[in-house]
Amino acid sequence: MMQQEITRRSALKRIFAAIAATGAGSFITFDDLLAADANPRKAINVLWLHGSSCTGCTCSLLDIEKVPVVDILTRFAHMVFHHDLSLATGDQVTETIDKLLESEEPFVLVVEGSIPVRMPHTCMVAHRTMDSWMQRILPKAQACIAAGTCAAFGGVTQMEGMDTGSMGLLQYSYYRGITTPIITLPGCPMKPEHFVYSVLHYSTHGAPPPLDRYGRPRRFFGRTVHDRCVKYADFQENYFSRKIGEDGCLLRLGCQGMVTRSDCMITGYNNNTNVCLRAGHPCIGCSGENFPRRVMFHTYDDTRDIIPRRV
Ligand code: SF4
Ligand code: SF4
Repeated sequence: MMQQEITRRSALKRIFAAIAATGAGSFITFDDLLAADANPRKAINVLWLHGSSCTGCTCSLLDIEKVPVVDILTRFAHMVFHHDLSLATGDQVTETIDKLLESEEPFVLVVEGSIPVRMPHTCMVAHRTMDSWMQRILPKAQACIAAGTCAAFGGVTQMEGMDTGSMGLLQYSYYRGITTPIITLPGCPMKPEHFVYSVLHYSTHGAPPPLDRYGRPRRFFGRTVHDRCVKYADFQENYFSRKIGEDGCLLRLGCQGMVTRSDCMITGYNNNTNVCLRAGHPCIGCSGENFPRRVMFHTYDDTRDIIPRRV
């Protein structure tokens, strides 16, 4: 079998293709990548912590394109600590974070999952509660990226029956009176393209991309799923599926595409291999403020809770 030689330039070309796929090719050129590769010290610090989460957003992040996400990020950012990717544990984590805070170097905090404030001991990071870390770290961060729906809005960790008092970052920063700008990247899980684009934008411009009132980048969350749905023509013709697997718009099966903002029809999951509606399943609104709803799945004649509750 012929083996293709991988040169530094060909590796960087693959990294650039992955960057362009996130949309960041609009402000990063191949020359910028060459320069960042030669001088990565200019990179912004990124500190990634887990609140109450399932780690799905990290798994999603690792699935980006055909180059390791670390290869993309390390050219433009310095990952100080990542809960799953770093080797540090216990006191080493405390030392790493303390060192960053004492250095007074600028950093972007990334939080995956929510912050349990009623039962803070249910979420510990290196011997301390996530709540106490957040009170210390969040005010010092230049910006905070809420990675995924739980971090943005509370998501699954805030659904009915959960007693931990978990809060998404928007609610938490209001509750604690912290004014650090929050960039929310909802999605269950978060799309890796959204994260890479946002970090590269911050590292290049020193500011987040334009955001909506919930802190979501307008580029990705400016339109509803319904606006660009593959079944939009069926909707217009009042042609509705009566059960999963049939042709037709999925509205009568509880589709939340009309009230859910995301670019799912353009950027799917697993390198855009597929996404709910293209696979014939209703949108369950996983990037919405109201996710998860009390009744998530509907039959054609069951319209209970089909219109989301208000927050
Ligand atoms: S399937 Fe959902 S998102 Fe698609 S057209 Fe129907 S209601 Fe809209
Ligand atoms: S189509 Fe809806 S449920 Fe599916 S990933 Fe997009 S926002 Fe989430």
